Amino acid sequence: MPATPPTPATPPPALRPFLTARHDLLWQEADAFAAEHLAPLAASMEAAPGKVERGAAELMAARGWFAVTVPAAFGGLDAGHVAKTVLVHRIACVSAAAAAILQATLIPVGALLHFATDEQKERWLPRVADGSLLLTIAVTEPRTGGHIGGIETTANRKGKTWVITGSKVHIGNSHLAGAHLVIARTAKPGVRTSKALTAFMVVADRPGLTVAEHRPGLGLHGFSAGRLELDQVRVPADNVVGEVGGGLSVAQSSSILYGRPNLAAVSLGIHEAAVDLTTDRLKNRARYQGTLSDLPVLRDRVGEMEARLRAGRNLLYQSVHLLDQGLPCDTDLINAKYQGHRWAMQSVQDAMELHGAHALEGGYLLQRLWRDIPYTYPPAGTGEFQRIRLADAAFDEDPVQWSERLAPHGHQQRPGMNVPRESRTP
Ligand SMILES: Cc1cc2nc3c(=O)[nH]c(=O)nc-3n(C[C@H](O)[C@H](O)[C@H](O)COP(=O)(O)OP(=O)(O)OC[C@H]3O[C@@H](n4cnc5c(N)ncnc54)[C@H](O)[C@@H]3O)c2cc1C
Repeated sequence: MPATPPTPATPPPALRPFLTARHDLLWQEADAFAAEHLAPLAASMEAAPGKVERGAAELMAARGWFAVTVPAAFGGLDAGHVAKTVLVHRIACVSAAAAAILQATLIPVGALLHFATDEQKERWLPRVADGSLLLTIAVTEPRTGGHIGGIETTANRKGKTWVITGSKVHIGNSHLAGAHLVIARTAKPGVRTSKALTAFMVVADRPGLTVAEHRPGLGLHGFSAGRLELDQVRVPADNVVGEVGGGLSVAQSSSILYGRPNLAAVSLGIHEAAVDLTTDRLKNRARYQGTLSDLPVLRDRVGEMEARLRAGRNLLYQSVHLLDQGLPCDTDLINAKYQGHRWAMQSVQDAMELHGAHALEGGYLLQRLWRDIPYTYPPAGTGEFQRIRLADAAFDEDPVQWSERLAPHGHQQRPGMNVPRESRTP
């Protein structure tokens, strides 16, 4: 298990157009934090797959990182999408599970930024910013999967409350969150999806809300993406986020503007770790008069890995930079997530083969990367859904550009971006 995050230890020159000096500081701070605190924790998370690792969340909360996109008016760092990407990416180099915990809360934070009232922001965001409240966004259901139009969870108005009943599955941070942004059906059958769904903030201790026991999966050990059961859960009417009937916009926009780049950043961290481990191994594995890294056929494969890694990194940082600038970039975010996962998946497979039998020896880090990388495929749109949107762009049939529509209400990069609170040590 390496004690430090993989290269590049400082941002590579190709990212210069997208980074300020303060992003550089954040990069270094995240690397140092990950090496000191998350690397040892990652090992214990791997050794105890049945445990949801609250400690990783607490460490990042103490650092103030859940506040990265929260406006300063609500106690946040107001640092924008590139800064968020730096954090998720650099943490994922050392622990994809810890990065998953961070990013899963930052998706509903995005939804609140764009759709909550000022009063609701005041109620929720300061607690996210100080790390005392983690969130989920709960869309996926057992029968309908990612088909949002098929949502069966219902919310019915009863006086001053809504009563919500249904099941949600694969909900990131299910076991850590103090509140869930639940998308439920509020219209009669036959009403178009764009008018039929509503978003609700549901506090985790509401009677009738239960979280199924954590069941460890293939990878991302320490992170939970579990099942919520809502049985007649009563929610105050002022917990509706956005318009009644506007839940599709809340879910779709936060998935595109926050989910896609967040998952791309997790993929990127895993990808970098895999390339680093492989070059290290080949440089140190003796063969003939030199090492495996001398063999042209293996260098050719590493060249492919490096090409994919650089392309994925540039694509991601360029797309979140566009987002910070308020420019239309939905398709770029979608592409960054799509290619970022695909390319990382290919490189991790190459890495396994280039390690030979060593890759299969018990406890070797590469096995963790190989088990973690499939987890960036389903969330925030599977490959099929990304290709549908990419084809729409090719045919000039793009639907709404959320990056353009929501930019005036969201964060726009400013030269005087706040610096993270380095004083908040874990
Ligand atoms: C680590 C992780 C974290 C997650 N976090 C969250 C979360 O925080 N909140 C949340 O709500 N959900 C979350 N999810 C769930 C995720 O959004 C779903 O897994 C995803 O939407 C796909 O749904 P499904 O897995 O049920 O696949 P299915 O919907 O069963 O799809 C199976 C396959 O069929 C394809 N397919 C389905 N329908 C179509 C179609 N119409 N056209 C073409 N292809 C299609 C899919 O692309 C996929 O390849 C998470 C999942 C994971 C793995």
